[in-house]
Amino acid sequence: MRSLDHVAVTQFTKRLEGTVIQPGDADFDQARRVWNAMIDKTPALIARCASVDDVKAAIEFARIHELRVAVRGGGHSAAGHGTCDDGLVIDLSPMRAVQVDPVERIAVVQPGLNWGDLDRATQTYGLAVTGGIVSETGVAGLTLGGGIGWLMRKHGLTADNLLSADLVTADGQFLHASAEQNAELFWGLQRGGGNFGIVTEFRFRLHPVGPIVLAGWVLYPQEKTPEVLRFYRDYAAAAPNELTTIVILRRLPHLPKLPPFLRGMPVIGVAVCYAGVIEAGERVVQPLRAFGLPLVDGIGLKPYVVHQTMFDAAQPPGRHHYWKTAYLPKLSDAAIDVLVDGARQMTSPLSVLAVYQLGGAARLEDAAFCVNADAAWTEPAGSQRHIAWAREFGTAIEPCSATGAYVNFLGEEGEARTRSAYRENYDRLAALKKTYDPDNFFRVNQNIEPAA
Ligand SMILES: Cc1cc2nc3c(=O)[nH]c(=O)nc-3n(C[C@H](O)[C@H](O)[C@H](O)COP(=O)(O)OP(=O)(O)OC[C@H]3O[C@@H](n4cnc5c(N)ncnc54)[C@H](O)[C@@H]3O)c2cc1C
Repeated sequence: MRSLDHVAVTQFTKRLEGTVIQPGDADFDQARRVWNAMIDKTPALIARCASVDDVKAAIEFARIHELRVAVRGGGHSAAGHGTCDDGLVIDLSPMRAVQVDPVERIAVVQPGLNWGDLDRATQTYGLAVTGGIVSETGVAGLTLGGGIGWLMRKHGLTADNLLSADLVTADGQFLHASAEQNAELFWGLQRGGGNFGIVTEFRFRLHPVGPIVLAGWVLYPQEKTPEVLRFYRDYAAAAPNELTTIVILRRLPHLPKLPPFLRGMPVIGVAVCYAGVIEAGERVVQPLRAFGLPLVDGIGLKPYVVHQTMFDAAQPPGRHHYWKTAYLPKLSDAAIDVLVDGARQMTSPLSVLAVYQLGGAARLEDAAFCVNADAAWTEPAGSQRHIAWAREFGTAIEPCSATGAYVNFLGEEGEARTRSAYRENYDRLAALKKTYDPDNFFRVNQNIEPAA
């Protein structure tokens, strides 16, 4: 393990408004953890930054001591990009301020905020921006990779609603990026994740949403998956943009809020959120509720902020995860067969197959769906088996998939796969990387190599 000069660390600590945590500190073991327990890394130092000046100081410290840098917003990267071995973690969690201008419909957000906090702040005024479906997920990482969520088919991806960003670049410059200023950099931030600098402030466009929305899910026993998915593909194709749907295949968790007969049961669920006038939404979801004989019809009126926590209990931090993702141009019969088999062959009761409906304003490489196999487990001894399941699913779905992949769901899958995820944008992003980060200082991410 890398040991740093004690005097230098002390000076660095004094310079920060935030705090520095190092190996041996009582809270180091907790502070080095990220959401995915499979990522077990030991940084040389964790700098909890509280201001732009702290971020600048941390970048400078890493440069002087030639430390690898991992930037952490909410720490939810399944690939583990919020931490690293032997390097400096720049942890933005103390920067959690949010300001909402309800007249201009703008939210100004610091990078340590999570979706639960942002949604609560905007929903006070009946406003929202498309955001992650688990409330603990960080606003920063999610936005910089695109951002899919319940409002996306109506209001676009999170990154589409970004009005501007302030950031500190690899050489310590503080820049403002928007469509008017540093426009090429702004374009890159909306697609290229954390490759160009550390964003210290996001400005989002907000939309009227709820605060009560028509949302929830219908559940069927998993044996009915082929019929449900065949019905669903026609239903989803005809759905207006106000409706976003997510299909979930899993065993229901053993949660007290579920009736005992449902706990542990393998199900297929079609979850929905209607971002529009409730009466119109009732008509839109009617065919879904009427299809077959659902085990549960859990669609109803609820606060948007409550819907945004629907999957929280099923995705707590501290479990082991391995993800495999793909885009689907359509839900073909072959893709349905792969999903049916994937669900049947799941090796862990905590694993999930999820199919996110894109389209409408949610333009991700013209794909119609994004699928993610989330292998999840608690005992490290089972890792190989569960990882193998996700990988086998990834291989089986490949012939049905479109090129590219959603970068926020991508694992550490090698340069070729990362490159293909960015698709035709890669060369333009690499040119931008050369301008703003020529020595690839920010490389603990879905990395874009500086153009030669
Ligand atoms: C339970 C769960 C639910 C999820 N749900 C959704 C969902 O609904 N929709 C969706 O689109 N995605 C979802 N994701 C994926 C999510 O978008 C990514 O995991 C994302 O990276 C999370 O952001 P974070 O800030 O929490 O992550 P971190 O691990 O902190 O960071 C992830 C990446 O972003 C970079 N980064 C973070 N902050 C900054 C910053 N301020 N400046 C520059 N770079 C930065 C990091 O360097 C790293 O490369 C989910 C993930 C999990 C674990």
